[in-house]
Amino acid sequence: MALDPDFVALFCCPQCRGKLSSEKAPEGFACVGCKLFYSVEDDVPNFNVEDARPWAPSETPAL
Ligand SMILES: [Zn+2]
Repeated sequence: MALDPDFVALFCCPQCRGKLSSEKAPEGFACVGCKLFYSVEDDVPNFNVEDARPWAPSETPAL
């Protein structure tokens, strides 16, 4: 099951309330504002700031 893009569009970063990008980070959601990456596990996004990891677009491995 893929996440519904319209549903995803409602998400925002829990830390800075910024827009999340799933296009730049296919396996989860990346906040372009505070550069945090939120993973998706079993189609459930994990938006715990404590579980988020630093995200750098240039370091995102190509799939
Ligand atoms: Zn943010």
